[in-house]
Amino acid sequence: MDPLYQIKVTCACCETEFKTSRVRPSLKRAVRSDSDFCSYFKSVNPDYYVVRVCPFCGFASTENFADQMNGKQKAAYYEKIGNHWIAKDYGGERTEQEAMECYKLALLTAQAVDENIRVIAGILHHIAWLYRYQQNTTQENRFLAFALDAYVKVFEQERDGSNARLMYLIGELNRRLGNYNDAVRWFSRVINDKKIMDASMIRASREMWQTLREDMTRGGLDLPEEMKENTV
Ligand SMILES: [Zn+2]
Repeated sequence: MDPLYQIKVTCACCETEFKTSRVRPSLKRAVRSDSDFCSYFKSVNPDYYVVRVCPFCGFASTENFADQMNGKQKAAYYEKIGNHWIAKDYGGERTEQEAMECYKLALLTAQAVDENIRVIAGILHHIAWLYRYQQNTTQENRFLAFALDAYVKVFEQERDGSNARLMYLIGELNRRLGNYNDAVRWFSRVINDKKIMDASMIRASREMWQTLREDMTRGGLDLPEEMKENTV
């Protein structure tokens, strides 16, 4: 059985219909995932097919993009990307390289039309994962840092303070980038804030806090105050 099937999508920019591939739901189960939710699959990686690229105008979006665009956004898109687009069809099977191209196009598109920062953060994080699959640590960390900045902006914009998954991710990306003190601060917020009810994120934050403490002790680093006495 072909792991892929095609669906029709209407481009939000030029409004033409085109086909894009998706992975069958039965194959979407990850065999494992990293502590920042990067997932690994037995056969096809469904993440490769998240971005839909219009072959006619190049507009590259995910399901999280706004359905409708105003005239100003379309004009900005054509000026920055659409007018230079050379027809290419990403509707079939994608190689790892093509998946990367699709995500980079989605990033440029999102930036051109000033898409929601939450959407941009997700794309940046996915690009970091694609580099992780390739074991390209330098580029992975570069995009993790971009994603981290974007997630912090999302957090500041939401002014909610109870989005445990977002706070955990900010802590975890800080940890992966070696910003240990910031990581401790974010994990502590998830663990200690009484308003947070998300049990799985509290558990994940405790685990990464412990990992962090072991790594810092082993590396001979000074533990931050909150880590010295606190047992979590
Ligand atoms: Zn289009």
